[in-house]
Amino acid sequence: MKWKLTIGCLYPELLNLYGDRGNVRCLEKRLLWRGMEAETVSFYAGECLDLSGVDILLLGGGSDREQAIAGRYLLENRKAIVRYVEENGVLLAVCGGYQLLGNDYRTEKGTLEGLRLLDIHTEWRPKRLTGNVILKSPLASSPVVGFENHGGRTFIKGARPFGRVIKGFGNTGDSGYEGVLYKNVIGTYLHGPLLSKNPELGDRLIGQALKQKYGAGVRLPPLSDEAEYRANRYMAVR
Ligand code: GLN
Repeated sequence: MKWKLTIGCLYPELLNLYGDRGNVRCLEKRLLWRGMEAETVSFYAGECLDLSGVDILLLGGGSDREQAIAGRYLLENRKAIVRYVEENGVLLAVCGGYQLLGNDYRTEKGTLEGLRLLDIHTEWRPKRLTGNVILKSPLASSPVVGFENHGGRTFIKGARPFGRVIKGFGNTGDSGYEGVLYKNVIGTYLHGPLLSKNPELGDRLIGQALKQKYGAGVRLPPLSDEAEYRANRYMAVR
């Protein structure tokens, strides 16, 4: 049997900052290199979300303006998204997309309502948190590297963070933590694109999705990942 995963890309016309779309390419390649099949389905603003055939869902980042538009469409489809996540669907949400998983995002111009998937919230501050980031995450043995640029500070209360900040700002600039983990969801501020510089994370999403779709015991054949780790080390050393 040939294994196949379907990657769902939410609102690529609105949420695609700093190459977030590269996460889609990266997942596709990692599947194809292993002789598996990959299909990508993009969902555009205004469409009714049918996530029944989706194995990995990606939500990128955007400016406050684009995020406000995307947020409205997400809310219209809240039921489908909550169900997908609660049934252990795999979701990677980056920056603006990460903020929208929470209760709300309080900006200088008003409050954007979030999906309330997680009991976290975000508050805007005038000083943007920008630069390269290094994390230690329980999901990867190598340091996780990426780039952040956000005005929002995300308060995750008792939720599990994605990683501990070694360099950079992370969720609030002073909590010492970055992102959030919940079931098969990763929420993070890291653009990059994240998965090309952190191949372990890409494989983690693929592994979780294969397990969801085909059952336990899926072992991914290793890839050389020489270029990916060169990029990762270059950023970590710098
Ligand atoms: N608009 C949000 C903020 O500035 C998210 C930005 C982003 O996705 N990079 O906090």
